[in-house]
Amino acid sequence: MRCPKCSSEELKVLETRAGTSASTRRRRVCLKCNHRFSTMEEVLREDLVVVKRDGRRESFDRTKLAMGLRRAIAKRPIDAEQINGLLSDTLRRIENEFDSEVPSRAIAEAIMHRLRKVDGIAWLRYASFYEDFMELSRFAEEIMNLGGGTESDEGGG
Ligand SMILES: [Zn+2]
Repeated sequence: MRCPKCSSEELKVLETRAGTSASTRRRRVCLKCNHRFSTMEEVLREDLVVVKRDGRRESFDRTKLAMGLRRAIAKRPIDAEQINGLLSDTLRRIENEFDSEVPSRAIAEAIMHRLRKVDGIAWLRYASFYEDFMELSRFAEEIMNLGGGTESDEGGG
């Protein structure tokens, strides 16, 4: 772990907050430049296997998932923290729901479900990457719904 500002490794933990059972948030300060930042530690399920539509299996790759998401939110007013939160949230749910094998489609749908609340355009883009498994009629219906105004902020937290 290094300071994101000066790359010093002399860091001190100011506060530790347990998130969910699988994550811990820590507030840190750099002893060199005094920069304060937060980190999120997550328990990773290295053994998770993704089952693709054609039956092929590959080990779960969070980076790949993040790349697809980044492609979808390009030039949209969504910050990195929102996307990290969305990813973590999705993964948590996937890991709770599936034992060791998870269909790629379940991951995509879980992401889309959340992305839709964040940004309609990004959601549409993401969905279009996976349109082969979406029923066309349902897709069209969703697009129609998008025209009906934005959803209000759900608050919470
Ligand atoms: Zn520093």
